[in-house]
Amino acid sequence: MKFIILLVFTFCVNALMLRSGVKDKITEGVIQQIREQIKNPQSQYYHSAYNRLAYYVDTFGPRLWGSENMADAVDALYKDIEKMGFDRVWKENLGEITSWMRGEESVTLFEPRQIPQKLNMIGLGWTPAGVVKGEVEVVHSFEELKEKDVRGKIVCFNFEWNGYGSAIAFRFAGPVLAEKAGAIGTMIRSVASVSIASPHTGMTDYENIKYPAVAITVEDADMLDRMKKRGQKVVVEIKTGGQQYKTTSDNVFAEIKGYKYPDEILLMGGHWDSWDVGSQTGANDDGGGVIVCLEALRILNSLGIKPKRTIRFIAWSGEEMGQNNNGAFHYARNHGKDNHIIAFESDLGSTKPYGFGITAGQQFTQLVTYLAQEYLTGIGAERIYPNDGESVDSGVLADFTGTPMLNNRIADNENHDFYFTYHHTAGDSMWMMNQEDMDDNVVAIASIMYLIADYDGPIPKD
Ligand SMILES: [Zn+2]
Repeated sequence: MKFIILLVFTFCVNALMLRSGVKDKITEGVIQQIREQIKNPQSQYYHSAYNRLAYYVDTFGPRLWGSENMADAVDALYKDIEKMGFDRVWKENLGEITSWMRGEESVTLFEPRQIPQKLNMIGLGWTPAGVVKGEVEVVHSFEELKEKDVRGKIVCFNFEWNGYGSAIAFRFAGPVLAEKAGAIGTMIRSVASVSIASPHTGMTDYENIKYPAVAITVEDADMLDRMKKRGQKVVVEIKTGGQQYKTTSDNVFAEIKGYKYPDEILLMGGHWDSWDVGSQTGANDDGGGVIVCLEALRILNSLGIKPKRTIRFIAWSGEEMGQNNNGAFHYARNHGKDNHIIAFESDLGSTKPYGFGITAGQQFTQLVTYLAQEYLTGIGAERIYPNDGESVDSGVLADFTGTPMLNNRIADNENHDFYFTYHHTAGDSMWMMNQEDMDDNVVAIASIMYLIADYDGPIPKD
């Protein structure tokens, strides 16, 4: 009972303190300074996020986990960060990892076409090498897969786009479920909100996939569906050339040490690896996320801003491949005992920011809401969305340690249709990145991290 009274008392005091809304002039000045440096066309920091990202994308190309491109891009990022004058810069090797590379691959439509037609396609991550030819059965749901006899056939999943959550189930689980039902190969409709005939890759069930599993375009999935509905026999051949191999990779770090509570750590970052499907793939997913976080740390450091707590930048290695020895798991296993205050991740693009999602206890959420509303209204990033701060890499740390999570809320609709138009395609390129929007992300991220890191008082644990 005493415990409950104490809890209620603490809550009321905090609530009172938050409602008083006394703006601290120094803190306000810091936020203004960050904004002026990033948004001033005369400043060296103006558009530096876009320019730095463009350098990496143009110079190193896509960064598939474990590939030489990725290794070169990791080295270059590390060397670049070393020159930025942070308190500490380091990398951590993941040890031996198993990764996957794409080989020659194709889908050819033999029937009902008179002359064989190559379809735009892309193999799904972890698909092994193989060649299969057979009649196609189109299904629209997992229920329909159970009802139809797909033995000896190639299953084409043609589902409706209702957001990533429902669509990814077909990409991840669809091929293996079809194989269990007797199919000899799988084509999935690309997981995409809008299509201009571009196939979208992504990971499938890496532990169980045994046969060719590929994505075809939304347009072609619909075409095969129409053919079947009018009773035409559809025959395709799928060729894939995927291979697994042993390699290694690194997470990269930079830190500004807190002057008062150096052991209290605010983690922030994105994943440096990407898919491999175009000349610039990984500009948006997630090169942009990594670079806006790095630039956020850089502006704080360059302005000589020392917060009370430590801010640690991480470029995670290996998110796309989803392995449990990737950078996120390596970090959580090796740093799970560090005192993490919060983990921020940017992995939904870098369009215009308007606030933050947070997954934390009620009091901490209340504190972040207060800080954002008090100090970030001027930069338009003050909206806080409780219980909505999850991301993939920060989520691993949260699973291991219960660390609260934060992510940036940026302009897009509810299903992130802009993001998923380009996601995991050759269209993920510098063309879809916007210089002003990236600058706004740097301002918003640097500001919220600073506000939490410099908060003068204990950070609520619940
Ligand atoms: Zn991503």
